[in-house]
Amino acid sequence: MSRRDRLRNPAPWLSDGSTSGYAFRSKRKGDARKRRFGILDAAVVLVVLVAVWSRTPVGALAELAVASITGAPTDDVRPLIAYFDTGTGEAEALTELIAELDPAELAPSDGLPEPWRTAAHVVLSRHAPVEARRALHEAQQEDPEATWLTLLDDRYDGDPTAVLEGLVVESAQRDRAIARALAAGEAHPERWDAHRGYLPLRDRLAGDKVVGQVLALGTALDLTWPVDRPHRISSGWGERHHPVLKTRKFHNGVDLAVPTGTPILAAQAGTVRVGEDRVSGRYVVIDHGHGVRTSYCHLDRIGVTKGQQVKPGDRIGLSGNTGRSTGPHLHFVVRIGRETVDPERLRRAKRRGEPSG
Ligand SMILES: [Zn+2]
Repeated sequence: MSRRDRLRNPAPWLSDGSTSGYAFRSKRKGDARKRRFGILDAAVVLVVLVAVWSRTPVGALAELAVASITGAPTDDVRPLIAYFDTGTGEAEALTELIAELDPAELAPSDGLPEPWRTAAHVVLSRHAPVEARRALHEAQQEDPEATWLTLLDDRYDGDPTAVLEGLVVESAQRDRAIARALAAGEAHPERWDAHRGYLPLRDRLAGDKVVGQVLALGTALDLTWPVDRPHRISSGWGERHHPVLKTRKFHNGVDLAVPTGTPILAAQAGTVRVGEDRVSGRYVVIDHGHGVRTSYCHLDRIGVTKGQQVKPGDRIGLSGNTGRSTGPHLHFVVRIGRETVDPERLRRAKRRGEPSG
């Protein structure tokens, strides 16, 4: 192959001509250096393709398209729209609404139980999809006093996600998705997580808006406090004035002033991740599912290992003063998706729901 040929055809593996192709050229004697570059280029292209496939919305779309063409279950396909993952303050706005709730709005019933009751009330009153609003409108034709909660209470049959899904997904579509999930070997196809991937895209997205958000918010509402001994909060969540740097800085968690060696408790059941860095010191992260995670930083000792399943209230370590910390305390963070929310707000909402006395 002449030099001019190579210039005209800089990426021979992309061409269809067999004579100018890469395989032909690579057989030539004394061309080993060029061949190495060819393999390197191919490797770069491969890395870029893998990155696009696994890390970008374009890849997720391609994955979804392939899955729908081949009829493969779309269960493993990443959700195209992950609620709370845009960082627009949606999770914060929802927890703010929870803090402002009038207890009378949430009179207990023998229908939908807590924490799903509060979560459903807040999510639906903020932005219910059109399908759900239609369901409420129909209920109000018969009973003008009907609300989201009376509607859900009437329909509740022991499964919070089923009654929420019923607001936005027609029962025939739901049955079909459950049948497909069953055929694919799902152990509990009636569960939202198990059959959501078999719903038509439109139903799945509407379901994510209602069921997904209520599951996330309800999971966050169910969190318990990580310290069971008396202590004060030395710094709250949100904007704060940095005492040393004299600047405004966002504090993504709360600081619990506890002496080194105080037992730290898992805020709910979940899967553990552990680590250590210069800022957080020794830390534990617990994934509670539905996009909700809690972090516990500046620990003196970590009492759990990566991948361990913990139960609510399990001792996960001892508080300390490791990392960037000016005194012994626990930095406690609650995340819904990519957003952090105010743990104290969730705690107040939880306390209000508990019987007094
Ligand atoms: Zn802190």
